[in-house]
Amino acid sequence: KLFDNDISRVVEADRAHVWHHLIQHAPWTGEAPKGDPRIIVEGRGMRVWDQKGKEHLDGVSGGVWTVNVGYGRERIANAVRDQLIKLPYFAGSAGSIPGAMFSERLIAKMPGLTRVYYTNSGSEANEKAFKMVRQIAHKRYGGKKHKILYRERDYHGTTIACLSAGGQDERNAEYGPYTPGFVRVPHCLEYRAQWDLEGEDYGIAAANAIEEVILREGPDTVGALCLEPVTAGGGVIVPPKGYWPRVQEICRKYDILLHIDEVVCGVGRTGTWFGYQHYGIEPDFVTMAKGVASGYAAIACCVTSERVFDMFRDDATDPMSYFRDISTFGGCTAGPAAALENLSIIEEEGLLDNTVAMGDYMLDQLRALQDKHAVIGEVRGKGLFLGAELVSDRTSKEPTPEKQVQAVVADCMAQGVIIGATNRSVPGFNNTLCYSPALIATKDDINQIISATDAALTRVFG
Ligand code: PLP
Repeated sequence: KLFDNDISRVVEADRAHVWHHLIQHAPWTGEAPKGDPRIIVEGRGMRVWDQKGKEHLDGVSGGVWTVNVGYGRERIANAVRDQLIKLPYFAGSAGSIPGAMFSERLIAKMPGLTRVYYTNSGSEANEKAFKMVRQIAHKRYGGKKHKILYRERDYHGTTIACLSAGGQDERNAEYGPYTPGFVRVPHCLEYRAQWDLEGEDYGIAAANAIEEVILREGPDTVGALCLEPVTAGGGVIVPPKGYWPRVQEICRKYDILLHIDEVVCGVGRTGTWFGYQHYGIEPDFVTMAKGVASGYAAIACCVTSERVFDMFRDDATDPMSYFRDISTFGGCTAGPAAALENLSIIEEEGLLDNTVAMGDYMLDQLRALQDKHAVIGEVRGKGLFLGAELVSDRTSKEPTPEKQVQAVVADCMAQGVIIGATNRSVPGFNNTLCYSPALIATKDDINQIISATDAALTRVFG
């Protein structure tokens, strides 16, 4: 028996009072509900069980790319328990033992960066970086160099400032007016090409498009460029060769701080500790959240270079010169205590190597599916972070209707395999099945995900 209480009571309490994320509630609420809300009751390794006791293989690490080390890790639970009994929380200007020890372990994996600012969500970590950029603009440039560039299709979080830096209009719509000072640059997905070029030349052209925006806005007004290393919810977009070196060059040329949003890619997802480390670039800010403690506790970090940090201690006599910011739950010690164990698990179990090996295997398997199903227009990914873009026609690249994409996801779910899909269908843009199994995935797990997708595609598209 998975749950001690009467599970139907739980379902009714949920139906009556819980407002779930990311979903329209009409089907299971109101006068004549059809079906029940889904409750996930328990997890072990790669698998979870729902309120009906049905087992699911989790192909998306907790729904949104989070549970990197899998479920049921007692050593994380024990470390958190011990820490909570010792000291659950203290905030303000004080530090904590797990906070100090995790920062040391983390920084050792991020050459060139030195400081960790703790907070509790990816959105908030990004907001911290935005605020630092703005304060630097005021301290150094009379407020002028304050604009923050972001890329079409990237996502940086759910707050109004993060949505103002959001490249997915389907998420932004109806939440305006937005915060001023955020400026969009073009996406870099070669499959949806904007320039008649290929490969490295395409990557360089996509980066040059950023330079054009900087020149249009005025380099003395642009403070930072914020990018995902591999775009996640915007369609699993791996930048083409040539893109990142040119981006780095442009940032240096115009003295623009480079902010990499590793909220999804961070802590192993792509087979390196951080996604940017595939590309040899040197960011000024790195933000991270989901994989930092694999969801066992809420923790996010805004990591900076010493150069950035120095700008906030350059004048100790000025009472306004430090970073005048707090995150209440940045003082929870459960986060860094869980994160320390999470790092140890990844190291001791060789999960980065597994991610590379299983990611390559899964990419091959998805490519084999592409040979079989004309509806798969492109397969892409890095490590255990993969996508298959669905199109009604391979020549026109017309995206498949969202209803059909959701039918594939639902069919997999009925088979006991959870996969994801990118956001709402955007005319002329993508509709991508998403895969992000835990970094412990085996070939058997991947085979099960692939064969469920195969069967679902056959049923939905013939
Ligand atoms: N950045 C990226 C790339 C994300 O995918 C997300 C969430 O999915 C966020 C930021 C926001 O993180 P959070 O939901 O923890 O605020």
